[in-house]
Amino acid sequence: MGVTVAIVGRPNVGKSRLFNALLKRRVAIVHDQPGVTRDLNSAELAPGLTLVDTGGWGLGKIKNAKAENAEILARLEEQLSLAIEAADKILFVVDGRAGSTALDTQIASHLRPHKEKVLLVLNKVDSEEVAVDIGEFLRLGFAQWQYVSAEHGRGIEGVRNALLKLAPRDEPSQPQKPTLAIMGRPNVGKSSLTNALLGEKRVIVSGESGTTRDPVAVDLTFVGKKGRKYEYRLVDTAGLRHRTKVASPVEVFSQIKTREALQGADIVVLLIDALDGVTSQDKLLAGEIQKAGKPLVIAINKWDLAKAGFTEGKRIEGYETLQEFEAACRENVEDALFFTAQTPILFLSAKEELNFEILLQIVQTTAARQDKTFPTPEVNRLLEQLLRKSIPRNTSGKIFKVYYATQTGKRPYRFKLFCNQVEGVNDSFKRYLAKGFVDYFEIAGCPIFFDFVSKPPRVQEKGKKPHNGKKSARSSKRRTFHRPR
Ligand code: GDP
Repeated sequence: MGVTVAIVGRPNVGKSRLFNALLKRRVAIVHDQPGVTRDLNSAELAPGLTLVDTGGWGLGKIKNAKAENAEILARLEEQLSLAIEAADKILFVVDGRAGSTALDTQIASHLRPHKEKVLLVLNKVDSEEVAVDIGEFLRLGFAQWQYVSAEHGRGIEGVRNALLKLAPRDEPSQPQKPTLAIMGRPNVGKSSLTNALLGEKRVIVSGESGTTRDPVAVDLTFVGKKGRKYEYRLVDTAGLRHRTKVASPVEVFSQIKTREALQGADIVVLLIDALDGVTSQDKLLAGEIQKAGKPLVIAINKWDLAKAGFTEGKRIEGYETLQEFEAACRENVEDALFFTAQTPILFLSAKEELNFEILLQIVQTTAARQDKTFPTPEVNRLLEQLLRKSIPRNTSGKIFKVYYATQTGKRPYRFKLFCNQVEGVNDSFKRYLAKGFVDYFEIAGCPIFFDFVSKPPRVQEKGKKPHNGKKSARSSKRRTFHRPR
């Protein structure tokens, strides 16, 4: 799982500049002052290591720059509690030149209970000459501190190196239960489902709850009707939302957490609200899951409400029967999420614990589909068949040919196709191929990536590295029509 570092501090201490300097970015716009609305900024410092600038968030509505400290603090408290909750490391930025202010002291008192994860950053110490009353800052109570000048780069490398040490390392592989991530937009029922799955009635729960790195990760052993056991490590990305009332920045944090959860997941369940249908946010999430190459199962939640919509002579507008509504829901998901790989769809009620075992069965079969190895001759035969039905052409009408194709990876599945041209190969053709592969190899729910290489394989092997940096007559000749990607 990923690691999050949050930058906090009162307005005007240079948080954005520090954020940009750590990321080695030169961004001119720095509006680190009260009264400027700005979203949380986040970016990856290293793979799995996310840096978040809490910036001016929460201070947006304070129009008056001279607002009372108490008011600023009230807003700051929200970002502080988010940082404390979500971050593994907090960079508490102060203005080394200006000295410690009352607001710094108040922020410090919030952070002190978590001081082991706080690094006090004394910014604006541009050179040795800047006089800093260090004793005053040390009284804030943090053992780890560092001078920097975000503006001039002084001390930035030291902070960056310290942070890079926190980046997650590849853990030694050990047999583990598969990790199931439950994802979905706010209010779709992620927590309800997690809680219900973990409900005391038939579940044996063990494991830690919400460390900051891992929102809620618990071991789930669900015992089905016939005593069949389903064992997963369950990640619910909703944990944060319930602890604060504010919407947008929390969502940003939970997006980061969602992404982290996604990286570590073996399989993902995306919840869709039965009555709302697929929203643009759902599409975005499905797109992220697809991009991350994770197998996906779609669960249409709150199905109890759909059922209730057709009781006692009632109807959901536009539909005669529940079956008709169900078919429309399926169609809606298939249409809106057309880019996913024939994703299994089921209907669920977290509230009434409807179809839980079916969910876990589907999850299990889908997860088991991601480790197959496909024989190269079979892959090539399948491609031949698929290309007989649909052949891309380039703009001058030249048809696309595949010389040879082979599987190059799994989790996610990857295939390399050596072909005569890449022109004309568009997303819709890739989806057509993916659909053909998913159907033929029975891997519904598993994303597939294709790499097209416009070189015959023979040439690629032979023409790899010409000696002395000189190109052979053959290879330079061929260059004219190779377009290596
Ligand atoms: P999250 O933000 O995705 O974690 O959503 P929650 O689990 O907090 O659920 C949001 C709201 O939807 C709560 O009021 C739940 O009681 C309600 N809810 C969740 N699942 C269901 C369901 O299956 N049926 C009904 N009727 N309500 C549900």
